[in-house]
Amino acid sequence: MDSRVYHGRIGVSADWDVVVVGGGPGGCAAAVAAARAGAKTLLLEGTGAAGGMGTGGLVPAWCPFSDGEKIIYRGIAETVFRRAKAGLRHVDEKLLNWVSIDPEALKRTYDELLMEHGVSVLFHTFVAGVEMAGDGTIDAVIAGNKAGLTAFRAKVFVDGTGDGDIAAWAGADFSLGDDRTGALQHATLCFTLSNVDSYYYQNACRLHGNNPGSPVHRIAKDDSYPEIFDTHLCQTFTGPGTVGFNAGHLVGVDSTDPAAVSAAMIQGRRIAHAYLRALKEYEPEAFGAAHLVCTANLMGIREGRRIAGDYELTCGDYLARRSFEDEIGRNSYYLDIHGMSGEMRAVIDKAGRYKAGESHGIPFGSLLPKKLDNLLLCGRCISADRMTYGSVRVMPVCLVTGEAAGTAAAMAVQREIAPRELDRSALRGELRKNGAYFL
Ligand SMILES: Cc1cc2nc3c(=O)[nH]c(=O)nc-3n(C[C@H](O)[C@H](O)[C@H](O)COP(=O)(O)OP(=O)(O)OC[C@H]3O[C@@H](n4cnc5c(N)ncnc54)[C@H](O)[C@@H]3O)c2cc1C
Repeated sequence: MDSRVYHGRIGVSADWDVVVVGGGPGGCAAAVAAARAGAKTLLLEGTGAAGGMGTGGLVPAWCPFSDGEKIIYRGIAETVFRRAKAGLRHVDEKLLNWVSIDPEALKRTYDELLMEHGVSVLFHTFVAGVEMAGDGTIDAVIAGNKAGLTAFRAKVFVDGTGDGDIAAWAGADFSLGDDRTGALQHATLCFTLSNVDSYYYQNACRLHGNNPGSPVHRIAKDDSYPEIFDTHLCQTFTGPGTVGFNAGHLVGVDSTDPAAVSAAMIQGRRIAHAYLRALKEYEPEAFGAAHLVCTANLMGIREGRRIAGDYELTCGDYLARRSFEDEIGRNSYYLDIHGMSGEMRAVIDKAGRYKAGESHGIPFGSLLPKKLDNLLLCGRCISADRMTYGSVRVMPVCLVTGEAAGTAAAMAVQREIAPRELDRSALRGELRKNGAYFL
């Protein structure tokens, strides 16, 4: 850090080529890709670990990595996926879809990748502001940590905050929830139970809410558990006698409202405890001796800001399985919307899911926030309409957009141009050289 002070009271850390804010799957992949491409890269992460929702959020499983025929989320995404699942004895080595996540293994995977590529990392460093330069570019992001306030300056920034914090504070246009009603997808605070009887859990329980015989249908109507009002109950083995839960819904949590998220954290912990008690009662063979080990330290926000980009990926593109000349990846995940309107359900029911081998492209334009010249988007805040956001928000896609954003950031720095001025075929060539998949 140099000795200058910013506006008389904030330290300055300059000399960075690329600063990535947020170390979830999007931000980690971006930081690794930027450093790999030769940029002096700093990753700022608010919590004490990389991985975002896959680690601090305790999401217990990866969404599918295959399109039903082959793995399509490749490059850094595939590396993270394969390394994190290696050594998980309960996971079939060949399994590509709905593979469970051991959050500690995933934290180490991200740590190792970041270190191998020479990314500088600051944990417990939360960015809470943006300083603009006169020409409409971002001059610095302002972060707080145990060293006080620091302005981190870079040539190019990448927004990996999930919620598009940096883009929004820099003045980007965005949408949040349904344009007319403001409705948001439901949030969930994930949690982990240990001391579960593995035999009964695997052989006798059919807990998922889609299973008509699941006890959750009775639990949701049981007045003893008012916290559990619907049948959302996804879970998976994450280790010996240990089951990770993505269960319970919190309605209308606005991720940009700290008071709302704080209240939801408290209610989420109540819901997790209610699930423990309910499962002990309804599935005693499997959960009679279970212990609630932990709830997540990150609120499970399914829907945050959708930043307006040079290109907005639309439901029409999704349904048409559209390919793009500037695409940087492919996606085949379904439109997964928690708490959808009747209108949305009708579209989804009519469209059905992709058949094996089908996918759509993700254009580079959806990573470029309109009006801002030295910022790239990655992860779940990329430019997409509300329906398509339901699909592209999941972790394999976030890793892919992260790798593209980080690679583009480094290439722009080397060429001394804005990311949107990059030659798309040069970017795609670089990504392909590193193993990315697209048409
Ligand atoms: C309940 C739930 C269940 C899900 N289930 C699945 C699933 O089964 N499989 C799947 O693949 N995906 C699932 N998803 C989707 C997926 O986990 C997320 O959408 C994805 O992790 C988003 O990645 P990201 O990198 O954009 O952001 P995140 O994973 O949210 O990471 C953002 C990171 O940035 C940090 N950060 C945020 N703001 C700041 C700031 N201002 N300063 C510094 N640091 C900051 C956060 O601490 C965090 O580490 C689920 C999501 C939720 C909410």
